[in-house]
Amino acid sequence: MHDFCFKRGKLYCENISVASLAKKHGSPLYIYSHATLTKNFRQFDDALSPLDHSIHFAVKANSNLGVLRTLANAGSGFDIVSGGELQRVIAAGANPSKCVFAGVGKTEKEIELALKKGIYAFTTESEPEMVRINKIARRLKKKAPIAIRVNPNVDAKTHAKITTGTYENKFGIVFEEIEGVYKRAAKLKNLHLRGVQMHIGSQLTEAGPFEKAVRKVAPVAKRLAEKHGIEFFSLGGGVGITYESALESGDAKWWRSPKRRNLLTPAKYAAKLVPLLKPLGLRILIEPGRFIAGNAGILVTQVEHVKQTGVKNFVIVDAAMNDLARPALYDSYHEIVPLTQKSGDHLKKNQISSDVVGPICESSDYFCKNRMLAKVGEGDHLALLSAGAYGFVMASNYNTRAFPAEVLVKGSQAEVVRKRQPLRHLWASESVPKWLK
Ligand SMILES: *Cc1c(COP(=O)(O)O)cnc(C)c1O
Repeated sequence: MHDFCFKRGKLYCENISVASLAKKHGSPLYIYSHATLTKNFRQFDDALSPLDHSIHFAVKANSNLGVLRTLANAGSGFDIVSGGELQRVIAAGANPSKCVFAGVGKTEKEIELALKKGIYAFTTESEPEMVRINKIARRLKKKAPIAIRVNPNVDAKTHAKITTGTYENKFGIVFEEIEGVYKRAAKLKNLHLRGVQMHIGSQLTEAGPFEKAVRKVAPVAKRLAEKHGIEFFSLGGGVGITYESALESGDAKWWRSPKRRNLLTPAKYAAKLVPLLKPLGLRILIEPGRFIAGNAGILVTQVEHVKQTGVKNFVIVDAAMNDLARPALYDSYHEIVPLTQKSGDHLKKNQISSDVVGPICESSDYFCKNRMLAKVGEGDHLALLSAGAYGFVMASNYNTRAFPAEVLVKGSQAEVVRKRQPLRHLWASESVPKWLK
């Protein structure tokens, strides 16, 4: 998280102190760094520069218009999974012709919208869906560009809920059947077979599974290019990030640890894959979400109370699982740091084993358990790091809690890119039936 660091004991996002943003905009508050987003994008762009390539940010990881526009300005295309995401990309001022549309259950309306907007390609995952896309394209007198998602049956060695490339899950077409499916798809007159796609999972921290999958799929991609004239091979997303010791620099030396560096980087990924891909002569697409946005965002929260039971120190904060669902959903780790680091915070004697929890009535509403943290008190602020991907986008209104605000920082400028949701909006579309009045 190069652009989140401590300077003279205060946490900064680029040139702005996080505490000043919390003071101005309240909490819970998501804060994103323009510089980190852009740098992470460029790491991929540089690593793939030996290839004809394009990068399609996975909108589902962070769909804020300010974030999307930052990436569009850097040259990114987008990977979308719904008609809503397509409309967001357009609302952000980005070009639909740089969108690929994935997902196992596209509706007729979504397909129609995407065709009318002229997306780059649909990634389709089943034959019934190809038939559906063909039918809609015929009605609109268009040719629908498609790629078929192949399931290479490679274990991504990641969390079971985010592995997608084995036959145990619902994604893609079984590897052994893929060429037969292309042959049948080629008979559908309103389809343009443009590419082949794979995506084996998320939060991969080694290149091995990608390499294994590419070695398997590349020969098929080559044959598909010869037989059907496909022009691209999309490798999907999935490059993981470090969630522990995620701060890169600054004066908080005691937060530096060997785990700090990302285990897998775009450079390492490319070093393994570029030699396998270059001979294909195809355009290579990637769809990274987490790597670009994950370490580009934090969630700031305020301590409401500290409650000590006989065995536990509970730090009760104003953010909850409805704001950041990942710990409740995947048991995931987010590093938690106070915005102000006092001298001696790093000494064991000043730390206490803590559970940081939200106010929601669910025992899964926690951000960490039994973690050694500097002692904090009511009114102090904490930052949950690496919250830029699969953070706000998974927020809900559970417990009638409003969506948090989001701020984008660029250098010394900060702008609210999503206002805190006014509470009355939560029930604005509801009503009491006349016959109850
Ligand atoms: C979720 C998803 C991505 C992004 O995955 P990350 O792990 O965030 O990089 C890319 N492509 C497809 C098809 C996806 O479903």
